[in-house]
Amino acid sequence: MNVRSEKVRSEKAGEPRDRALVVLSGGQDSTTCLYWAIDRFGRDRVSSVTFDYGQRHRLELECATKVAAAAGVSNVRLPIDTFATLGGNALTDDTATATGVGDVDADTRLPNTFVPGRNLVFLTFAAALAWQRNIGHLVTGVAQTDYSGYPDCRAETVAALQQAIRLGMESDLAIHTPLMHLSKKQTVELAVALGALDVMALTHSCYNGKRPPCGTCPACELRARGFAEAGVDDPLLAVT
Ligand code: ZN
Repeated sequence: MNVRSEKVRSEKAGEPRDRALVVLSGGQDSTTCLYWAIDRFGRDRVSSVTFDYGQRHRLELECATKVAAAAGVSNVRLPIDTFATLGGNALTDDTATATGVGDVDADTRLPNTFVPGRNLVFLTFAAALAWQRNIGHLVTGVAQTDYSGYPDCRAETVAALQQAIRLGMESDLAIHTPLMHLSKKQTVELAVALGALDVMALTHSCYNGKRPPCGTCPACELRARGFAEAGVDDPLLAVT
């Protein structure tokens, strides 16, 4: 433990550890998780972190800022520029989009929107921030049902990472994944139950970075199917 970290922890010693840090991308799922955390921990005990990893669609970052403001929680934006330097995926560069955003690579059998290591790195940096602030809970919107084929969204990946963080940071940090086993329909129903429907107008899911959304990319189709199956109008579609 370095001197600065000791100081930060001691300064925060009076605050309860039973607080949550939400990884907020500005999308539907992380926004639902933000409201889940507020419901569970209380608004005053929730904060959020957003990663600027060089995503092509900068709109995402604006959406995260707006969602956090609408929810009444603080938001920290942290830069991670290594993924954009690595390239090779449709979210940080154009090279993988020739065949269509979200298409599955024949060799890896993963969609070209897969950013290798992204969630592992995000959660590790989020854990570092939580450690500094003496926050005991991380919340992330990853889900393995209806998922797009991302291996870092699986429950066993998150469980293994939680264990690694606990060991590596000498911590009892808990990583919560409220959406892990929910379908998109159930995620929409959860958002409605948590009072998060209106704020969905501020969120962003489209892989093509369109607002209003393109409606045809895999992310738009998944989102639309969830709302349709839940019988709920997506407020984002009313945005002009
Ligand atoms: Zn789209």
